[in-house]
Amino acid sequence: MTQTAYDYDLFVIGAGSGGVRASRIAASHGARVAVAEEFRIGGTCVIRGCVPKKLLVYASQFAEDLGHAADYGWTIAGAQFDWPTLRDAVARDVDRLNKAYITTLSSNKVAQFLDRAEITGPHSVRLKSSGQIVTAETILVATGAWPVTPTFPGAEHTITSNEVFHLETLPERVVIAGAGYIAMEFAGVFNALGSAVTVVNRSNAILRSYDIDLRERLLAITRARGIAYRFDAPIERVDKQQDGSLLVHLRDGGEPVAADVVLVATGRFANTTGLGLDTVGVATGARGEILVDGEGRTTCPSVYAVGDVTDRVQLTPIAIREGHAFADARYAGKSTQLSYEAIPSAVFSQPPLAAVGLTEAEAQAEYGAIKVFTSDFRPMKNIFNQRVERGFYKLVVDETTDRVLGLHMIGPDAPEILQAAAIAVKAGLTKADFDATVALHPSMAEELVLMR
Ligand code: NDP
Repeated sequence: MTQTAYDYDLFVIGAGSGGVRASRIAASHGARVAVAEEFRIGGTCVIRGCVPKKLLVYASQFAEDLGHAADYGWTIAGAQFDWPTLRDAVARDVDRLNKAYITTLSSNKVAQFLDRAEITGPHSVRLKSSGQIVTAETILVATGAWPVTPTFPGAEHTITSNEVFHLETLPERVVIAGAGYIAMEFAGVFNALGSAVTVVNRSNAILRSYDIDLRERLLAITRARGIAYRFDAPIERVDKQQDGSLLVHLRDGGEPVAADVVLVATGRFANTTGLGLDTVGVATGARGEILVDGEGRTTCPSVYAVGDVTDRVQLTPIAIREGHAFADARYAGKSTQLSYEAIPSAVFSQPPLAAVGLTEAEAQAEYGAIKVFTSDFRPMKNIFNQRVERGFYKLVVDETTDRVLGLHMIGPDAPEILQAAAIAVKAGLTKADFDATVALHPSMAEELVLMR
């Protein structure tokens, strides 16, 4: 690599999933790289997203298993849950991962600035606390997304997913605003841990992007587990009571809901405020997202962007791929065409759901002639318990070619099963290929090859 007159070849703003991957790979190709991070190295997924969330999900699943244990002959006396123990254990793991990310960057000789960086020119950034100006041939913006709370009186009494991992005590009553990924995942966690949970949404839908049958199944099961829902109910205001508790007034004409914690999970917007994008003519879209081409180029030739800040698909593995592809293209002359088709995704609700490819409605609209195969079954683990919670799988098939267009699952371990099955869907296998595969018995996954 020819070295430039700038301080660095590449300056990355934001050390989350996309930024760290881009930094590390660019450095491994010989680029002189620096990264700035205003909070903690690791970013949303590692510090206050996917990783700590999944640990809370695991913790809350013990409640379910303990409840079933007696049916399987176990006597478990005096089982107790202690939130601070869990919270601190999760925080320790986040610290461990944070250190691992720092070590990875250091061992790849990536300079790290724990500071906010703002763009001051096509090749320069200013570090906010130190005031230092740093120059680079290329600037990569990987600042992710930020939770946005709608405007209503009392919004200052609410929290977002940024704060939820640090609660002092387990709230007795939680109101969760929104019915997307974060809302449904935390509704499951708090419900299982024993809090009274009310989900309130502005519309009458949960998890809008998923297949309707999965959404209806999740709604029915979570209602049976005790989660209350208020639909078509935007928050009007939140009042703080004398005892410190909160009263949530909704615009659905119903009674206000009392809560100890109000968690707002109404979407995450590109984190671009005050970044200096205007200074260098980087164009942004209606939600503040940075507009990029297929290779992460912005409208300023020396500035690139990857990950949630571009608001294409807000998922960690996508940010990682975009960061990697950027570094390979820019510093190793290796161009990778990223595919945004058939991206598997999951919601770690309880039960979890997972999907890849087109929903039935999408396939119907796009292909017209489709066949739909379903399996509605009682997971074997649930045989002894009183809850009649059934799993549900759906295969959507193109009638003309027999190709599987979409796979949708709700039930225990759905994300684990779907990740493997997604390979078959991505590879364009047919329903006949699924049928030709022998069932692995007894398992839930065998339903995938038994749908007739
Ligand atoms: P989502 O986009 O998933 O859901 C937003 C919810 O808030 C919807 O129910 C929506 O209602 C509602 N809403 C949107 N705007 C407003 C508003 N102005 N006022 C009131 N309600 C509103 O957002 P999340 O915050 O849950 O998650 C953000 C992103 O993070 C997700 O899109 C996902 O990509 C990612 N994520 C992924 C996870 C995973 O992969 N398991 C886990 C957590 C997050 P409506 O019904 O009208 O759409």
